[in-house]
Amino acid sequence: MRYDVVVIGGGPSGLMAAIAAGENKAKVLLIDKGDKLGRKLAISGGGRCNVTNRLPIDEIIKHIPGNGRFLYSAFSIFSNEDIISFFEDLGIQLKEEDHGRMFPVTDKAQSVVDALLRRMQELKIDVKTNAPVDDLQYKDDRVVSVLLKNGEQYEANAIIIAVGGKSVPHTGSTGDGYAWAKKAGHTITNLFPTEVPVTSSETFIKEKALQGLSLRDISLSVLNPKGKPLITHRMDMIFTHFGISGPAVLRCSQFVVKAMQKWNLTEVTMSIDALPDQKEEPLYQEISSSVKKDGKKAIKNTLKGLLPERYLLFLLNTNGIDPNAQGATIATEKIRNFVRSCKQFQFKVDGTLSLEKAFVTGGGVSVKEIEPQTMASKKMNGLYFCGEVLDIHGYTGGYNITSALVTGRLAGTNAAAFSIKNKG
Ligand SMILES: Cc1cc2nc3c(=O)[nH]c(=O)nc-3n(C[C@H](O)[C@H](O)[C@H](O)COP(=O)(O)OP(=O)(O)OC[C@H]3O[C@@H](n4cnc5c(N)ncnc54)[C@H](O)[C@@H]3O)c2cc1C
Repeated sequence: MRYDVVVIGGGPSGLMAAIAAGENKAKVLLIDKGDKLGRKLAISGGGRCNVTNRLPIDEIIKHIPGNGRFLYSAFSIFSNEDIISFFEDLGIQLKEEDHGRMFPVTDKAQSVVDALLRRMQELKIDVKTNAPVDDLQYKDDRVVSVLLKNGEQYEANAIIIAVGGKSVPHTGSTGDGYAWAKKAGHTITNLFPTEVPVTSSETFIKEKALQGLSLRDISLSVLNPKGKPLITHRMDMIFTHFGISGPAVLRCSQFVVKAMQKWNLTEVTMSIDALPDQKEEPLYQEISSSVKKDGKKAIKNTLKGLLPERYLLFLLNTNGIDPNAQGATIATEKIRNFVRSCKQFQFKVDGTLSLEKAFVTGGGVSVKEIEPQTMASKKMNGLYFCGEVLDIHGYTGGYNITSALVTGRLAGTNAAAFSIKNKG
């Protein structure tokens, strides 16, 4: 069978690419190995699908630390605001939540998937599910066909690789696209887990001293070997049985991975500032004067409300202070150390959960070999890439889906134009 455009992968990038190609009058086939399309999209954003983000473009780019700047030209053609209008035109109203995050008003990711599928039907896009692609055929520097595992073959002037990364493989993304890209002459940059919980072998983690405790609105930093912050994120975090997780941790995670690689480390230091709005010296003055004033009171009572109770008791104990001791009996130096650990509680981490357990795959098809305005391969005529298979990764908060939809839009539009132009 011959098509104008074959899209491999039915995640957000592939669905958008197929729709864009269909809207540009191409005869399109979308192939996915799974029994359903949009499986990862349907579980994204805690099942509510954080479909995009409403921050200004410059902010969005900043929130895509993995090659966000590559997307400047793409955003000038199809932006986050265009994503919002696109979904509104499909009957999906979106609402804005904290940090610019956009969700469907239904709070159901499936409604987003269903809207995309309805649009595909309207455009009469052929869909083949349960159809794992085995390989791509190239000849004389151009794409020829897609070969399925079952032996079927589909020819096309343009082929779009939209198979995602390697994370959460039960949704279908198992890293199959990298080999096809390599075969076309592309470079695959180092793959690594990002937006992933961080592990630690510290005794307090092993002993589960803080397991389940959430800290709200703290500043979490990853330190370089000289003790200077590489990155700081102010958000929530949680202690788990293996280490730490939560939004601040996910955002810091890639810096842990990169620091370990860069300096060949087995451990990296992280630091929690539990009171980011207060400076250390005034905080010390305030705490030491209340401890003195209430000299007969147990220190844990004097400091009640300063921090979540479990964390307060933990930091007192860590600094050798009996929480029941009367304030007046505690050495000044211990109070100073306690205040320091409120501002910078430092601990070692030794890695992250695996790439498979990460929300997002870092690394992928090098963006240096992709045309930023079209998503066309610079190595192979008729080959296009979009979504997480590319070396682009953002923070959670709608940035990855935004990147998938924007690159998908460009890949679909341009693959259709290329294919139709080269028909005769
Ligand atoms: C639990 C979870 C929550 C997330 N939440 C958010 C969020 O809130 N906001 C955000 O921005 N990002 C989020 N992400 C990340 C986001 O979902 C992904 O970045 C995005 O889905 C990538 O889209 P994609 O189209 O590139 O690939 P995918 O969504 O991974 O889709 C790839 C598709 O290709 C198909 N495929 C793979 N190999 C083959 C093959 N050989 N043959 C045929 N088909 C194949 C797969 O079956 C799959 O359907 C989350 C990720 C996870 C795991």
